[in-house]
Amino acid sequence: MLRDISHFVNGAQLPGQRANCLAVMNPATGRQVAQVPVATSSEVDLAVEAASKAFPAWSETTPIRRARIMFRFRDLVEKHQADLARLITEEHGKVHEDAMGEVMRGLEVVEYVTGIPHILTGLASDSVGTGVDCYGLRFPLGVCAGITPFNFPAMVPMWMFPVAIACGNTFVLKPSEKTPSATMLLADLLRDAGLPAGVFNVVHGDKPTVDALLDHPDVEAISFVGSTPVAEAIYARGTAGGKRVQALGGAKNHMVIMPDADIDDVADALMGAAYGSAGERCMAISVAVAVGDEVAERLVPALRARIANLKIGPGNAPQSEMGPLISQPHLDKVTSYVGIGEEEGAQVIVDGRGRGFAETRDGYFIGPTLLDKVDASMRVHREEIFGPVLSLMRCQTLDAAITLLNSHEYGNGAAIFTANGEAARRFTRDVHAGMVGVNVPIPVPVAYHSFGGWKRSLFGDHHMHGQEGVRFFTRLKTISTRWPKLNSASSQFAMPTLD
Ligand code: NAD
Repeated sequence: MLRDISHFVNGAQLPGQRANCLAVMNPATGRQVAQVPVATSSEVDLAVEAASKAFPAWSETTPIRRARIMFRFRDLVEKHQADLARLITEEHGKVHEDAMGEVMRGLEVVEYVTGIPHILTGLASDSVGTGVDCYGLRFPLGVCAGITPFNFPAMVPMWMFPVAIACGNTFVLKPSEKTPSATMLLADLLRDAGLPAGVFNVVHGDKPTVDALLDHPDVEAISFVGSTPVAEAIYARGTAGGKRVQALGGAKNHMVIMPDADIDDVADALMGAAYGSAGERCMAISVAVAVGDEVAERLVPALRARIANLKIGPGNAPQSEMGPLISQPHLDKVTSYVGIGEEEGAQVIVDGRGRGFAETRDGYFIGPTLLDKVDASMRVHREEIFGPVLSLMRCQTLDAAITLLNSHEYGNGAAIFTANGEAARRFTRDVHAGMVGVNVPIPVPVAYHSFGGWKRSLFGDHHMHGQEGVRFFTRLKTISTRWPKLNSASSQFAMPTLD
């Protein structure tokens, strides 16, 4: 039976126009599991209007009361963690344990904002001038919108809306049309936690729906996560309309392996980082950079042996370690990159093409692929593949490896595996990436730090969640007060110095 997904506006389901619905597929079977409507611009207007109307009362609700709702929401998400994970696995394909982990990482952001009264504490200075005090307060922006990718149906929305809402904003989310169901359960849980109607809304759709949000005069800020071409376009269009925009884009994350690293540890770490979630993570490691040929020669057999044992299958099967890709077109794209690498002169050590999941040939499965002797000019290095394709490159020195990473257009994450503190320190200081791991393959920051890349992995000034997220979703007001004795003030025409 097909799930019929609605929008969520003003605290209730809004079926919306059904003439133009999109199919939501189960990538493990290739069969449709749901249909999702595409919001018209008048439906987007309804959602923004509900959020605008809810804003005055919500922004006046004290931070401690907002936090109490977040506490209740936190408990409900924990209670429904497995339900959320099942929806994620069904529509995305990732294995259940991975989906459970994704929900937990989102939940951590909710936990962070349960401390919002403390987080919003401003700075105050006594006696900045004679009888003059100064303090800074952060105020919510108004209606904020989030546009999210298919690959983290719960976590990426939870990078955004808990922070926005806890700061006193109201929110309209446009989730990925490929994986929309988890956000509908999150909307129900927010309502059950006592969030007033209109504070959180969901509209479904694709480009036209996003454009309606981008062009809406009552939307103050846009938080986007997705591919770089779309992130760049959204940043340009949103900021041209005077909105605050943070737009996180694609990635090509490198792991540098020094000669003193333990090769078994490195190979274990690479397996999860390159092939976990079928490589469909913006923090996946897609390039391993061996410092010295000897490192590469030891790494290849260690990886080959592990790849042979990797269990591919539907995400809801307990033994599966890697599920399918999101769609047939994406499977075709990833498959084509293996051929492109081969033509460019890379050595195909393990070929995932055709290593599908035998029983469900209609699913979008590809096996893990390992390419060796990749160089910086090849498309398999320059472009984001977003699948289980790991490229192995060789550099002779750490400096050459850092130069290689810094010459790449993306700068989301980077990691180094080494036992040498000096090498690790140099790498962390010199590499041009927003998130860096030392012996940590996927350095996704915890919720009270902030997530975001450099270069063409992020358009805008603020990373997500943590203090950066709070800054993005609030604006600063700095207040100087003087309480003069009566009749003591006289007009001043020079720049005030307050002393
Ligand atoms: P996508 O860019 O195709 O879609 C992202 C969102 O934008 C979706 O909601 C989609 O409906 C909408 N959209 C798509 N095309 C649009 C257009 N032309 N105009 C306006 N909106 C549009 O990305 P995806 O395929 O869903 O997700 C995978 C990409 O997301 C990868 O590139 C991955 O690296 C990136 N990603 C980045 C991060 C990060 O933190 N930097 C995190 C997760 C995913």
